[in-house]
Amino acid sequence: MGKQTLLSVNRLKIHFDIGKGKTVKAVDGISFMINKGETFGLVGESGCGKSTSGRVLMRLYKPTEGEVTYKGKNIHQLNKVEAFQYHRNIQMIFQDPYASLNPRLTVRDIILEPMEIHNLYGGRNERLEKVDELLEAVGLHREFANRYPHEFSGGQRQRIGIARALALEPEFIIADEPISALDVSVQAQVVGLLKKLQKEKRLTYLFIAHDLSMVKHMSDRIGVMYLGNMVEITDHVQLYKEPLHPYTQALLSAIPIPDPDIEDRRKRIILKGELPSPIHPPSGCVFRTRCPAAMEVCALKKPALQEIDKDHFVACHLYDRELEQMTDGMKVMFQARSE
Ligand code: SF4
Repeated sequence: MGKQTLLSVNRLKIHFDIGKGKTVKAVDGISFMINKGETFGLVGESGCGKSTSGRVLMRLYKPTEGEVTYKGKNIHQLNKVEAFQYHRNIQMIFQDPYASLNPRLTVRDIILEPMEIHNLYGGRNERLEKVDELLEAVGLHREFANRYPHEFSGGQRQRIGIARALALEPEFIIADEPISALDVSVQAQVVGLLKKLQKEKRLTYLFIAHDLSMVKHMSDRIGVMYLGNMVEITDHVQLYKEPLHPYTQALLSAIPIPDPDIEDRRKRIILKGELPSPIHPPSGCVFRTRCPAAMEVCALKKPALQEIDKDHFVACHLYDRELEQMTDGMKVMFQARSE
């Protein structure tokens, strides 16, 4: 059976008006899609727009331009009943599980709350049984249901957050930096748990992270974002084997390799300068102020995300076929027009 697209993001822009005629271009025209049952990793430095993109999928922000469709329907044009169902199907897991759990509620009430709002599973007794089931599914004792969030470690609190997200039997989970705040040893356990649950419950994930090492073991396909733009999308094997975009190459070169011989020999790409402000992004390619391969054309024309190899998309003039085909005369004309 072929892959089925569950969610599709098309030319999405999220711009925030911050007064005095200034606009923050948090997300500036990204496109990607997520297939049913897969994990799509979304990676980039903080401030690149990845969490804002996740929040748009939760319908917390409306697009400035573009659209998001879920099973072919625009999620910002749903009627009341469809929106209620959508919010059951899509759940979120947060970076800081402690901040997202109400400290005054017991674990039982935290997990019960969404089920009561949606009036699920017949009645109170069935819902209480479901709480026990969910605690066990995420590797916690059912006796923990009477305790409060502060009585748990970071990893256990993340498991409670996952149990709550599963309470409505969602199809799709947005995990926004779910392991960044955890110790390295606990990170692997939470990744293992998310994978196990994906298999058992046939879940689809959007897994948001700020570094490529975190999404490596979790994602089927990965999208790399920089300053509100998608710069590369491909499957996880190809991305780590042959990253094409200079930014992806720099991100990968920053991940330490456990073998000291390889680590000593390999080339590190150190990015110069700071991340520019999304209020005044650079002209042309937004990465050009830090790109070791920047060319003249990079300041003049924004590179489009193009399919370079099968299912490998890159936004960079180094791979721009249109540009390759331009004669020198056309390039001069184009540059003169852009000035
Ligand atoms: Fe670098 Fe130019 Fe490619 Fe942007 S378009 S990543 S500046 S080479």
